[in-house]
Parts: sequence; C-alpha cells; structure tokens
Amino acid sequence: MPRGDTFALMEIIVIAILGLAALTAVARPFFRTSNGTGPFDDGLADDSPEARAAARAELESEILRYRRALRSGTVCTRCGQANPGDSRYCADCGRPLGKSRPPEARSSAPGR
Ligand SMILES: [Zn+2]
Repeated sequence: MPRGDTFALMEIIVIAILGLAALTAVARPFFRTSNGTGPFDDGLADDSPEARAAARAELESEILRYRRALRSGTVCTRCGQANPGDSRYCADCGRPLGKSRPPEARSSAPGR
C-alpha cells in the first residue's frame, strides 16, 4: 500500500470528524431553539416570558432602590446595602451612614 494513500485517507477522516464537530456546534442552537429553549442555558430554572418579566421587574425595582439610596447618600460603605433615604444607620450591618455623603452634598457643608 503506497504511503500517500494512507495519509490521504487519514486526512479525509480528520476532515470528516472536524466537519461533523463543526456542524453539530453550528446546528445545535437551531435544534434547541425549535424545541422552545434557548441555545445556551443562562442558569435560570424557569425560562418562561413571565418569569423573565418578573425577574426584570425585580431588578428594576432594585436599581431604583439603589438610585434613591445613592442620591440620599445612604448606601452603606461597608456592606453595600441600599438603605432608605432617611436612615441614619445601615439596616444590614448597623454602620452609621452620616459620614458617607456624596461629594455634591458635602460641598454645601462648610469645612470638614
Ligand atoms: Zn452595611
């Protein structure tokens, strides 16, 4: 058996395996999306639109809470808890919040 033929045969086998692997990698998302689930699992157990909307709403309210806390300077510098605007102490770790004012609020106060 000539050497060139064995190499050619091996080359064909390697190309076939690589081609098959590439094809499955490319084609898998299409098969999975047609099945109703996304191409990649993002770790969420429930993938329904309702669950996604609920998670989004929860995230938005959390962002709003942090925005308010940042504006009033009540985000805890120790644990990162977003406390209500009128809090004097962190609800999570008990750290006093008075000294962690944002720069624009501090500039109005005379001296340090
Ligand atoms: Zn805290």
